Formats: sequence, structure tokens, C-alpha cells
Amino acid sequence: MLKTFTVVVLFVVGSFGGAASAAEAQAYFALHDLGHGVWAAISPPKSKAGANAGFVIGPDGVLVIDTFEDPAAAEAMLAAIRTKTNKPIRYVVDTHYHLDHVAGNNIFAAAGAVVVAQANVRSWERTQNLKFFGDRPTAKQKTFVATLGLPSVTYRRGITIWLGDRKIVVRALEGHTGSDSTVVIPDAKVVFTGDVFWNHTLPNLIDADTKQQIASNDAYLHDYPDYTFVPGHGDVGEAADVRAFRDYLVFLRKAVADTQAAGKSGAALVNAVLPELTHTYGGWGWFKYFARHNIEQAAAELKGTKRVPVAEQP
Ligand SMILES: [Zn+2]
Repeated sequence: MLKTFTVVVLFVVGSFGGAASAAEAQAYFALHDLGHGVWAAISPPKSKAGANAGFVIGPDGVLVIDTFEDPAAAEAMLAAIRTKTNKPIRYVVDTHYHLDHVAGNNIFAAAGAVVVAQANVRSWERTQNLKFFGDRPTAKQKTFVATLGLPSVTYRRGITIWLGDRKIVVRALEGHTGSDSTVVIPDAKVVFTGDVFWNHTLPNLIDADTKQQIASNDAYLHDYPDYTFVPGHGDVGEAADVRAFRDYLVFLRKAVADTQAAGKSGAALVNAVLPELTHTYGGWGWFKYFARHNIEQAAAELKGTKRVPVAEQP
């Protein structure tokens, strides 16, 4: 879980290079078999892996989706892939630039993979990620961010990747950040959403455009109504879960807009919206951590004062 303004990334330099044991892999993520050679790696809340990831085994190679917050977790996934196949790991797709999805890029690049992402991932990965370490990042944290593995193939709207005759469609559907990609595996009816969708979990909205994020979730519901959805955080879900998340964003925006219309702002606005939000969504994952941030960030967005990374010009 990538938290805002607090230091949560615990990376252990000593863990590089060693093959992860099955027990270690278990602590970072649980593998879910989605059929047709598609696997979701679902991280439990508080796992040092920090986010979900996954991989697709095709006729002539493997494609990995996201690489966690901790390089040791990426090593564990590499080891897990090797228990399923010896085919080359050809590609990594980063679903966005945030630290908890890209920190293991170097591990997979060293194993021969080409890292692929939306162009803004490359622009922001080594600069914007520093904000997650607070105002005074340590030298070690600065080095960690400055040496994150960048994508070497970038696109703006999307890209189609072939694993032999197996088609994988990568679409730039934004909203969580301006760098989001969704990975669609049509023959398995699986969608990896990155952090555009969080399953019954409050999202980190630090870089979000919630209007765009709602539109991207609407696109999932319209284009993939009978698919399985692997979120960036939370368990594997289906369309009903995507709808619930989309409805949360709509609810949040309406509650905040109504309270703003009643003349409230700042702490008074947060205190007015929080009970309503708690009543309906208090049982969701990370509610206590993100609820106030979500209200504040939605308020700034609706007021037009929210600052998000500026997209690189094409
Ligand atoms: Zn994330």
C-alpha cells in the first residue's frame, strides 16, 4: 500500500539476489490462477509487496504486470513464475508510475524483460515518487527513487503486445494518475486495472482526476462486462465490484460538492462529509487511513485547486 506523506517503503538491500523461499513469497502475495496461463499476485494489506501484480504465460514467453514496492517481492514473483514456466520473461507493463507498482522493474529487466509503459511513467517515475517519502527523504530513499527502472518502450494511447499468437491489449485509461494503463487479456477474459479500480478498498487519490477515473471504470463495465478484474489493491473482482468502486467515487464527489454548496470548506467540510462516508463505506479496506484524504482531495479537485503532475507533451 502506497501511503501519502509517510514513509512506508521498507527495502532491504541484503535481500537482492537470493532466491525467495515459498514462505517469503507467501508473505508478499498469494497467487490466484485465473486460467489460460493468467495469474494474479494478490498482496495482503500491510504486505511489503505494497500492491497487486500478475503475469501471463503465452506460447513463447511471459508478460508481467507491475513489479511491487519492494524489489525482494519482485524476486519472489520471478521465483514464482519459474515454478510455472521456463519461458523467457519478455515484457513488463507498468500500470502507472507510483512506487508500489514499479520498484521491481530492475529485477525483471535484469532477467531480460522489456519494460513498457505509458509515456508519463517514464517522465514521472524518478521525480514524482520522491513525494511519498515526505519532506525530508534520506539519501538512501533519494537513491532508491533515482535508480528505479524506467520503461524503455513508451506509448501515449496504448499498445498491443503479442506473446506468440496471444494478444494482449494495453489501453491508457487514466484517472488514478495521468499515467495509467489497463492490461486486457481477451482470450482469458481478464483485465488488470492497476489503481484505476480498488476492490472494496478506499483509493489513494493523491494524483487522481476522479471524473476521469469514473469514466475509465465505466469503460470497464461497458467493454468487459463478463471479465475478471484484477485491481491494484484488494482481491480479484468482477463487474459488480467495479461498479461498487465507481459508485464510491460518484458518492464521494456528490457528498463533497453538496457540502461545498452549503458553504463549507476545510476541516468543517471534512467533518460534515465523514459521517456520511463512514455510514456507507466504513467497512472498506483502508477506510481509516484514506477517508479524510479522499474528502480533502475531492474537495480540491472540485474547487479546481488540486495539483497533480503535469503531463509531458506528446
Ligand atoms: Zn498502488
